[in-house]
Amino acid sequence: MNYRISSRAGSLTPSLTLAIDSKAKQMKAEGLDVVGFGVGEPDFDTPQHIKDAAIKALNDGFTKYTPASGTPELRQAIADKFKNENGLDYKPSQIIVSCGGKHSCYNVIVATCEEGDEVIIPAPYWLSYPEMVKLASARPVIIETTDKTSFKVTPRALRDAVTPRTRLFILNSPSNPTGTVYTPEEVKALGDVCVEKGVLIMSDEIYERLLYDGAVHKSVASFSPAHREHTVIVHGFAKAWSMTGWRLGFCAAPEPIAKAINAIQSHSTSNPTSFAQKGAVAALKGPQTHLQQWLGEFNKRRTFALQRLNSIPSISCVNPKGAFYLFPNIAKTGLKSTEFCARLLETQKVAAVPGIAFGADDYVRLSYATSMANLEKGLERIERFCKAL
Ligand SMILES: *Cc1c(COP(=O)(O)O)cnc(C)c1O
Repeated sequence: MNYRISSRAGSLTPSLTLAIDSKAKQMKAEGLDVVGFGVGEPDFDTPQHIKDAAIKALNDGFTKYTPASGTPELRQAIADKFKNENGLDYKPSQIIVSCGGKHSCYNVIVATCEEGDEVIIPAPYWLSYPEMVKLASARPVIIETTDKTSFKVTPRALRDAVTPRTRLFILNSPSNPTGTVYTPEEVKALGDVCVEKGVLIMSDEIYERLLYDGAVHKSVASFSPAHREHTVIVHGFAKAWSMTGWRLGFCAAPEPIAKAINAIQSHSTSNPTSFAQKGAVAALKGPQTHLQQWLGEFNKRRTFALQRLNSIPSISCVNPKGAFYLFPNIAKTGLKSTEFCARLLETQKVAAVPGIAFGADDYVRLSYATSMANLEKGLERIERFCKAL
């Protein structure tokens, strides 16, 4: 039998972050003292009232199909969130709930892009974006940025990258992997270019609440009705409510795009898990007090790790004002990111993700969604590793 794999699937690279994570977990299972900076998920538990709502839903028999795009109750709660927090008016029919923010991104790209289309993605990027674009038979167009500009793409660079084939611009602020947060003025200026050029924006705002040092998040959709009409917002419950395993994300889109995504979803996944959606309603409507505590904890670790990294002579790291990642520059160690991470894991038992996975080979990604004790131990080892090079 010739197991021919479609060229679409054959062109994909499996997620390196997930691969590193499983390698580190395997080493741990073998009894090795591994410090993991690889994972992209909060180390806090899902707040109890959210779990209780899902448990109640199960006990109440809320275990059947829901509408493919999510329950009316949850879509209304999401529309209310956009109204109250972002000043954005969306009808529930413009909200589609999906099986994770990743799934929401995929739906948006597949609903809007096809062969011959170009999708502009600033690097360093979340590693799934270019792969999703390839799955849609479109072409990723990468704009490189460096730590010298805090990994920010300029309106000028964006304008230069637009061609008649440009379909989509992907904006992710706060950013995974760099933690970069664009100021409202910078977001508006990028949005202005897209409005002028008729380019749709996919704005991944999943880290919108994870901000430090007084950074402010403003959605690109919120600057004018034209900005909103050129934007699809992608979001999810994974990060700010620590619900990664629940698989719940959502998008807010202009009506025709929402309709297309609803059709895709109705023929692929159908609805996201029914009782998980009840938990999500509780997440949006319940107390948000957990977040202040998490942010305080994240900020302590961020400040410590940033200072510690910058005290290592061959490493420099810009101040990331959002999310829970650090993206230090390792160029002065003389190693490229894959070798740096492989040797770090091998010799020091510290797991980090090579920047090449995010399109930036002179950097590595460290997640500080781990305990202070782990951070202290891991950074000690990174310092030892760098000094021995
Ligand atoms: C975590 C993450 C998502 C969504 O993750 P899900 O677990 O699928 O909800 C989307 N975009 C970015 C940039 C992320 O880091």
